[in-house]
Amino acid sequence: MGNTNTALQTQAIYERVAQLNANEPEFLQAVKEFLDTVYPAVEENEAYQKLNILDRILEPEQLVQFRVPWVDDAGNVQVNRGYRVHFNSAIGPYKGGLRFHPTVTASVVKFLGFEQVFKNALTGLPIGGGKGGANFDPKGKSDMEIMRFCQSFMSELYRHIGENTDVPAGDINVGGREIGFLFGQYKRLKHSNDAGVLTGKGLTYGGSLARTEATGYGLVYLTDEMLKDKGLSFKDATVVVSGSGNVAIYAIQKAQELGAKVVACSDSTGYIYDAEGIDVSVLQDCKEVKRARLTEYVAQRPQAVYSEGSVWDIDIDYTVALPSATQNEIDLTLAKKLVSHGVKAVAEGANMPTSLEGVAYFQENGVLFAPAKAANAGGVATSALEMSQNSQRLSWTFEEVDEKLKEIMQDIYKTISDTAKEYGKEDDLVTGANIAGFKKVADAMVSQGIV
Ligand code: NDP
Repeated sequence: MGNTNTALQTQAIYERVAQLNANEPEFLQAVKEFLDTVYPAVEENEAYQKLNILDRILEPEQLVQFRVPWVDDAGNVQVNRGYRVHFNSAIGPYKGGLRFHPTVTASVVKFLGFEQVFKNALTGLPIGGGKGGANFDPKGKSDMEIMRFCQSFMSELYRHIGENTDVPAGDINVGGREIGFLFGQYKRLKHSNDAGVLTGKGLTYGGSLARTEATGYGLVYLTDEMLKDKGLSFKDATVVVSGSGNVAIYAIQKAQELGAKVVACSDSTGYIYDAEGIDVSVLQDCKEVKRARLTEYVAQRPQAVYSEGSVWDIDIDYTVALPSATQNEIDLTLAKKLVSHGVKAVAEGANMPTSLEGVAYFQENGVLFAPAKAANAGGVATSALEMSQNSQRLSWTFEEVDEKLKEIMQDIYKTISDTAKEYGKEDDLVTGANIAGFKKVADAMVSQGIV
């Protein structure tokens, strides 16, 4: 099959997928980026073509949708919609987080599950791809309401997961508190203490040290490799981060440890600018302890300024951007703004925070760009390390886990950058990540026959 021919065939595949999933814009966005970059790897491999790997890899193995009824503190019956997608199990049990947010739909869960397949492959660990969640909004809910919701959610989810089948973890609005409630209900329903069924657990019942920090730290480790490769560094760099949740907080902490000054971060209502550098302990107190808005940070650090709107509208010059909130936060207009402010590197802490046009603009303008499936893989990698500790019934030290995480992120950078070079796309880490992740999964699918 010639190059043009392959491009035409992948376009035809995209059109079929678009027709089948017509109301799923986020899923189609992830599929488009994937198909646009992987065809050279399909082109050179007869088995991939003969066994129709592309069509099969784009179809989830299963998708469950379920009702989640629960009772609020006022005694009213509420109903939400839950999902779990089992996208691909060629290289290991499905693995991927749960997201509780009003924007969760089948499309969002499928885009996240699809990206997770290749991200998990890039970690080098034996984990397949899955994802789930519910259109539940935890904002303003009491701990008891969160608990009742988690129990009801797990009362259906437990049928679809297991240590060797599917191992969920956290994502937006699912942290240690929610994983605790979910695990408690799973254990009660199964009458079995299967610690390996969920990751991100508390340290007293099977959790791993450094899992909380892992996505943010991993993001900075990978970005550091990318910067060093091009003669740049975090030392003295000015950095802007979006979000102020799990990924953002630990990315800020690690970037500052490496000598950067992180001057801004955000939540869904606005952003803070702290010219002296974000004080992580104040941020943690606001977000992890008080679960407050960012206005609370300014109340504690009066030199900081709070503004409404997107942090990417900020009018300062800076070098590194770490988008770590949610999908499609940086569109083409904002990408242009980042470049006009001197940004040299963008690494995605969140999943798909940059639109396709935004990514293209960064690449055309020489901005180093690390895509989510590589840059934020540290969380799931450390989850897999938690699974290993659970199956051996032992606990590694923080330093041991952190060291393994760093090695994994360094290896991922090397793999994606070498793959980009091998396919004649030096510095295009999107292509490097997609092809490297894809080949690993596709090779396993070839060996396992048509299933
Ligand atoms: P958290 O819930 O801890 O924090 C999310 C942050 O992003 C909050 O500051 C939140 O603001 C903001 N945010 C969420 N939704 C929106 C929105 N629609 N518009 C603007 N801001 C928003 O989540 P995480 O830090 O865990 O996740 C952040 C991103 O990182 C997600 O894309 C997730 O998929 C990705 N990720 C997370 C991993 C993990 O290990 N946790 C692993 C890999 C990727 P507010 O509080 O106001 O809602």
